[in-house]
Order: sequence, then structure tokens, then C-alpha cells
Amino acid sequence: MDKKYCLVTQHYKEGQFIMTTNDPNCKMVYEGGTLTSMSPKYDSIEELKIGQKILDFECTHCGGLISTTYYKPYPELLAQRKLCFTCNFWYEIKELLKDRTRVVIEGVTYKIEPDNKTNDSFKGHGGRMFKIKRFDSDEIVITKNLWCNGHVPESWKLEIQDNAVFIQ
Ligand SMILES: [Zn+2]
Repeated sequence: MDKKYCLVTQHYKEGQFIMTTNDPNCKMVYEGGTLTSMSPKYDSIEELKIGQKILDFECTHCGGLISTTYYKPYPELLAQRKLCFTCNFWYEIKELLKDRTRVVIEGVTYKIEPDNKTNDSFKGHGGRMFKIKRFDSDEIVITKNLWCNGHVPESWKLEIQDNAVFIQ
């Protein structure tokens, strides 16, 4: 098989990096691998960098490549913040944590949406009930509309720390 290059991202990890298609790890999650995204394949790294609009500096947070093939305003935003798409996602989550509806429990971020919908199927986690206690308050929040925003990757764990627990 000819060696080709693609830009990939990995499950639960920040950063985009180049992988060769003959690498045995070059497999998507649904194929039993760990990759969550894979760009088109290119014959050389140079072609990949042009095709994926990779900036000539690296992500200041994870050191990965910064592709700017996203819809507006991301190309400008990522260049300005010097962050890759994933790190920019976590940067924004970190900002959103000031909002009381956001919690981090055991390294996973969640958003507590209002409980005002009647049909359980349109609720987070199928309308299952959760009881949450924030570390900074004695109040217990009961929600049937909790949405998961994903596992905090390693390089963000110092900045995005647990601020609540699930209770029975
Ligand atoms: Zn990054």
C-alpha cells in the first residue's frame, strides 16, 4: 500500500497530528481504533499542510498542528488565540464554567439545561434524573436534563477541575 498522510485527532485527546495511512493505529473509533477524525489523504506532508490550511505555528496549549479548514469565525479565531480546534473548544468550556449551569464531575464536563420540556426523549441522558452537589455550595441540584460535553483532555486538567459530585 502506498504511504499517504492524513491529519487526525484522537479520542479523549487534544491536538491534531499527522499520521501515515500504513500505520496500524490509523483507524477510526468505529473501526476499533482511537481516531475521531481523519482528513483526506495526501501524497506528501507539504500537500497536507496546504490542503488542511495548517498555520505555520503550533498550538500554544498542546503543541499540535492548527488546521484552519473550519467555517467562520474559526480560522481567524484559532490564528488569533494560537490554539488548535480542540484546545479552543476547551478554552471556551473553561470560560463557560463561570456559568452555574456548567459542572465538571470526575473529569467530565456537563451542562444542566432547564427541566421544562415535556418529552423525555429530547432531554439529556434520555431524561434520567441526576442529583448534583457543587463543591462551593450545600445546595443539591436535581436535574432530568443533563448534557455531557466530553472528557477533559490531559493538558486541560489543571485548568478544568472537578467542581461538583453526583450524589445518590
Ligand atoms: Zn491544541
